[in-house]
Amino acid sequence: MKAFVTLMKKPPKTIITDQDPRMTQAIVLYKLDNIHDFEEEWITIVFKYNLEANKHIKGLYEIKQYWVSAYFRGHFFGGMTTTGRSESINGFLKRFTSSRSCLTQLFKQVDVVIEDIRQQQLHHTTLDTYRGSSLRSLSPLEEQVYNIFTRFAFKKFQEEFESATQYKICEENHEEFTVKYYKKQDSEKHKVFWDGDAVGCSCKHFEFWGILCRHVLTIFLHKNCFEIPMSYLPLRWCRDEFQRPVEVNMMVSEGGQCGEWSRLN
Ligand SMILES: [Zn+2]
Repeated sequence: MKAFVTLMKKPPKTIITDQDPRMTQAIVLYKLDNIHDFEEEWITIVFKYNLEANKHIKGLYEIKQYWVSAYFRGHFFGGMTTTGRSESINGFLKRFTSSRSCLTQLFKQVDVVIEDIRQQQLHHTTLDTYRGSSLRSLSPLEEQVYNIFTRFAFKKFQEEFESATQYKICEENHEEFTVKYYKKQDSEKHKVFWDGDAVGCSCKHFEFWGILCRHVLTIFLHKNCFEIPMSYLPLRWCRDEFQRPVEVNMMVSEGGQCGEWSRLN
């Protein structure tokens, strides 16, 4: 961690660690999105199984902010909740490198891997052009995101957008709305704030994923919003041509010398 802060000049906002075996004991509670629901369920389960004195359960409760979805959903994770994706990247890199590779070889191989991923994205874009667009509606909102986001992020947005057509506004008070699934009477309610510019939802999907949720999109659809503000289309999910070049001061060249390079952030 000290080395990270020295290099990056600031501590990371989020850290994903390996899964702790203790986590499996409380896997049912992990997905609860509401802090109040979690606290109630936790007490119920601890009493039900007589776990009040169990030190592992106590320890698990003390670090709840690191594993209970309700506590960390307000932070950007790009949708990751486990080390699964980083482990798959590890596996991918191991196809190109070995334990004998030196640092400069690793950098070169990472370049090869990134180029490989870019070529795959280009291939998918070409396929979309050849087969016709992936748009499933005539909505300007879907078209706007389609023209900006990467293929992966657009698919995630599309899932939310399609689901938005199944939600209704059940309460409305100036800039505050309550949204729920159209069928079930007892389905979960979500609070959305929208003042015509800034928007937020109690589910914290945007903060967690960087992609607007179905509840916010429900409001946009019902309130005639035909353009998503750019602040809700994070650079993290935009295609290369929408990224801003950022100067990075240091690189390691083949001879171990430092020079300057620029990268896309
Ligand atoms: Zn939401």
